[in-house]
Amino acid sequence: MTDAPTTQRTLVLVKPDGVRRGLSGEIVRRIEAKGYTLVAVELREPSEALLAEHYAEHAGKPFVTPLIEFMRSGPVLAVVAEGHRAIEGFRSLAGATDPTVAAPGTIRGDLGRDWGLKVIQNLVHGSDSEESAAREIALWFPAL
Ligand code: ADP
Ligand code: MG
Repeated sequence: MTDAPTTQRTLVLVKPDGVRRGLSGEIVRRIEAKGYTLVAVELREPSEALLAEHYAEHAGKPFVTPLIEFMRSGPVLAVVAEGHRAIEGFRSLAGATDPTVAAPGTIRGDLGRDWGLKVIQNLVHGSDSEESAAREIALWFPAL
């Protein structure tokens, strides 16, 4: 007999471009259609401080200031999704960072494109490891 499945939680953000384009529902639909459970869903307007923490791994990179500015350009839909291997699973649903080359069938590949801007607008964020997920969920949803 195999071990019982271990549940993982991941932080997904529908970035301001996704909310602005009316794609929040489509993105949440894909998460649910894949079979993950929604634990929290909240429309947020994150502070600069929260975003600096969220993107701490990118501190000092040339795109971090425009990235934080972009992430404050409109509401963000913050989602916690749960399921066995949900972290890797959502990254796979999201597709590659660059929407121009993200595979068709993925959120970024189907719905994203390059707009020729300073920041890659790619509709979604997804935690990239168990450590990042724990850190990011504590940051966005301290009550969870
Ligand atoms: P991902 O979101 O796929 O995990 P990263 O963590 O590497 O990608 O980067 C965070 C976000 O910063 C990306 O989703 C994208 O919006 C933006 N970004 C990443 N690399 C660049 C870049 N070279 N130029 C502009 N924006 C970038
Ligand atoms: Mg990342």
